[in-house]
Amino acid sequence: MSTQDKNAAIEELKQLDRKHYLHPTSSLKQHQKDGPAQIFVEGKGIYLTNINGETFIDGVSTLWNVNVGHGREELAEAAKQQMMKLAYTHSFHTYSHEPVIRLSQKLASMAPGDLNVSFYTSGGSESNDTAFKLVRNYWKLKGQPNRTKIISLERAYHGVTVGATSATGLPTFQAFANALAPDFYQAKPFRTNAELGDKSDPDYEGSIRGTIEKLGSENVAAVIVEPVQGTGGVHIPPAGYLQAVRALCDEFGIFMITDEVICGFGRTGTMFGADNWDFVPDLMCIAKGITSGYIQLGAVMMKESFRDELVEMTSDIFFHGFTYSGHPTACAVALRNIEIIEQEGLVANSLEMGKELEKGLAYLEQTFPFIGKARSIGLMGGFELFKDAASGDKFEPSMRIAHRFAQACLDRKLILRPIVYEGSYVVAIAPPLIITKQENDKMFDIIADAAAAMQ
Ligand code: PLP
Repeated sequence: MSTQDKNAAIEELKQLDRKHYLHPTSSLKQHQKDGPAQIFVEGKGIYLTNINGETFIDGVSTLWNVNVGHGREELAEAAKQQMMKLAYTHSFHTYSHEPVIRLSQKLASMAPGDLNVSFYTSGGSESNDTAFKLVRNYWKLKGQPNRTKIISLERAYHGVTVGATSATGLPTFQAFANALAPDFYQAKPFRTNAELGDKSDPDYEGSIRGTIEKLGSENVAAVIVEPVQGTGGVHIPPAGYLQAVRALCDEFGIFMITDEVICGFGRTGTMFGADNWDFVPDLMCIAKGITSGYIQLGAVMMKESFRDELVEMTSDIFFHGFTYSGHPTACAVALRNIEIIEQEGLVANSLEMGKELEKGLAYLEQTFPFIGKARSIGLMGGFELFKDAASGDKFEPSMRIAHRFAQACLDRKLILRPIVYEGSYVVAIAPPLIITKQENDKMFDIIADAAAAMQ
């Protein structure tokens, strides 16, 4: 194909995209003006290649999910084999199949504590919505139908279905929904002392404990937290916080749900985020890294005792299930994906390369006066942009500084993620868990070059 024909074909695709595709979480005006920002055609390792033949480092594992990297033939092969044998059957009416049975057993062997039972979904939002319905259903069956209230945290991101958006503590996502589901409340994040009962904390009233007291514990069904807040700007809880929330939930007999959609499957240098802090939630929502994004799958894992009680109390049918709950092909891919994570030691690599990432972030912070508040855990990191990091002086929103920084990296063939939340301008980094030291160095060379150009 001549260059002219190729350009014409690309232009046609862009026009079709503009005309017929409503993009998720995107600037609609920008899209109508410019068409799609990228059309990707190939992925290999930590790299993505677009239709113009330009190759980029995928510095955020696409949507924090491509943990084993792009282009893994083993996963394509697992999908192919399963599709040729039994691409799909449902799991309603207790129908089953081997991949879902094996995956459930595998997950039980990996998950913290006695989280030994899985219910499957197609992704993170569905997992969180399922968890909300499960606990509300539990309390109703238990004879406490008023226990419907769900407490999440400000800055939390739990997804975009109605329930998940209602639990999401990011005003922009809530505003989009216009009307939220009732009985969702957001508490101030990381008020460890308040959660332990210290009333001298100025944020006591807004803490989870304060919120429970205000609502009446007899009306609260569950608390949901991300072990590390991702989309809200990569916020790592202080030592003891998650254990304090666990203890608080135990004190009031409220369920603790963790949203491990990003943290799960090695992202934070341990298999699950919870493994960093030594606590066991009652329900744990997973997705993304379970298949490294090769196919849609999510799950809610729960304690065996929770399932046993549900069984005992449910006299009728369990009226909750998705067409794709326990999709055979997705389960087969998940099993192979987990095998890769284990065989290639990717959790250990996440921890080890996480130290390199930390060094890179420290270098940026020391070198550029407008970079500060760098933080990371495993291969989940970020830094903030300030007019002056030392004084904490911030940029005006109109500067779109996080977006400009990410664009400067993109111009240098590195994909990072800009996050803006209440005057904070964060750039998130979360490369695939297969990243090597050389690749990590290359990533930071690009960031440093972009930062130097912006000074
Ligand atoms: N929970 C967390 C912590 C997430 O980061 C996300 C997505 O980024 C979700 C839930 C929603 O998952 P999904 O987009 O698969 O519905």
